[in-house]
Amino acid sequence: MDKKQEAVKEGKMDKVINLCLRRGILFPSNEIYGSTSGFFDYGPVGVELKKNLEKSWWKYIVNDRENVVGIDGALINVSKVWKASGHVDSFNDPLVECKKCHLRFRADSLIEEELKISMDGVGVKQLQELIDKHKIKCPKCGGEFTEVQVFNLMFKTHVGAIEDEASLMYLRPETAQLIFTDFKRVLATSRKKLPFGIAQIGKAFRNEISPRNFVFRSREFNQMELEFFINPEKMNDVEIKKDDLNLESFFYTQEMQENNKNHERMNFEKALKEGIIGTKWHAYWMIEFFKWFKSIGIKTENMRFRQHVKTELSHYSSETWDLDYNYPWGWKEMEGIANRTDYDLKQHSKFSGVDLSFFDEKEKKKIVPFVIEPSTGVERTILTVLIDAYTERDDERIFLDLNPIIAPVKLAVLPLMPKEELEKKALEVFNGLKKEVVCDYDANGSIGKRYSRFDEIGTPFAITIDYQTIEDDTVTLRYRNDMNQERVKISDLKAKLSELM
Ligand code: ATP
Repeated sequence: MDKKQEAVKEGKMDKVINLCLRRGILFPSNEIYGSTSGFFDYGPVGVELKKNLEKSWWKYIVNDRENVVGIDGALINVSKVWKASGHVDSFNDPLVECKKCHLRFRADSLIEEELKISMDGVGVKQLQELIDKHKIKCPKCGGEFTEVQVFNLMFKTHVGAIEDEASLMYLRPETAQLIFTDFKRVLATSRKKLPFGIAQIGKAFRNEISPRNFVFRSREFNQMELEFFINPEKMNDVEIKKDDLNLESFFYTQEMQENNKNHERMNFEKALKEGIIGTKWHAYWMIEFFKWFKSIGIKTENMRFRQHVKTELSHYSSETWDLDYNYPWGWKEMEGIANRTDYDLKQHSKFSGVDLSFFDEKEKKKIVPFVIEPSTGVERTILTVLIDAYTERDDERIFLDLNPIIAPVKLAVLPLMPKEELEKKALEVFNGLKKEVVCDYDANGSIGKRYSRFDEIGTPFAITIDYQTIEDDTVTLRYRNDMNQERVKISDLKAKLSELM
């Protein structure tokens, strides 16, 4: 990428943030008191976008499958949950503090920014060596840093009137663990057989050292997670459709990263045949999510699968693939798809004393299933969708090229001018359509300004009510991307819109 393209890309992030603030999509929380970084609120447009995105995920993962059920777990959990999961001991990020101004930085991000190289999988010792070798100083005051230390990312709280070890609880840093702690009860009530999945959408909290890139890295965010349980001896027992195996993506394997090669384009069939992806169930869920991200409008050329290098693998994982997106600041994780093995169920069995195995009636034996976990951030996906959809045309027209499935408003209903008879007719049309399609009515300001407001929030269609409407009951239907217009009878609108969507 040349310098000019880079500048355009960098500018895009600022433009997307600006759009979020200007149009009430997402903005810093507690703004009137001066916000703390890493916390955000959704405005009226953003909350619709979030609901649509979550609905699309839930339908695709839970409602459309007979072998996945959902839960919604508590946000604050007893400390033993997080001791068992390994988070108390190892959910850490590397931290350095400036000796002069006492600002704290996440060491790997700091080095990435200074040296413009990826720090994925680089350990504390190597980070220290890089800081020493390149004499990296505080970007704010030029001061020297303390040695790299580890910093635990979990938020603590005490529940009840006494603050002691017994009342210590944690705000969950991921939704996944609730699925493991609820495993036995869900199994008993849903009567599912292996392989099956439990899904959850909800809040997660991480005391990130340096929240950055708007909502990409926040301290309070939402996750959409699926834990899919499989008999460990049957990790390859799944039929993947030929068309799916033929899908192509970029793959960035451990070997490519270790040898400083570029990512390569290949299809999933090749990735499986050559053992690049370890098991068929892992490939199955990578494909399913590749398709889901495509279905919500993310361009495939901006996605790639990056395998975690050995030093980077979490303590519970035998194999992890990140589904990366090509963000304005480089390729970064949008979703992680891990093989968590039987680590979590075994740990929780050990710490709670409750047997979390599955009794296989056919094989007449107890099994502790393996787990494939696709884990996605809601806000990170929203940011990705916005970056991917943000479009500027030469005439400086701005619009979000959103897929109608997730567009916050599907249809704008607009009287051409603020005249009583036009407004009356427009409201009549709005009331006739509002039950069929999420629409918004706006009569304020020039028609051009109203079109651009709806273009900027990605509304795919707009209808305008003018004087001809009063004569012949037709309206103009305008398309967001090419601004083409056609005349449609009011009585045909429902059918027309459902065909378009
Ligand atoms: P990163 O390497 O970017 O810190 P992670 O590997 O810690 O991410 P996971 O623990 O795999 O992330 O979490 C799963 C998903 O949750 C991520 O792919 C991302 O979409 C989302 N996520 C994680 N941390 C944050 C955060 N601080 N803010 C917003 N989304 C997050």
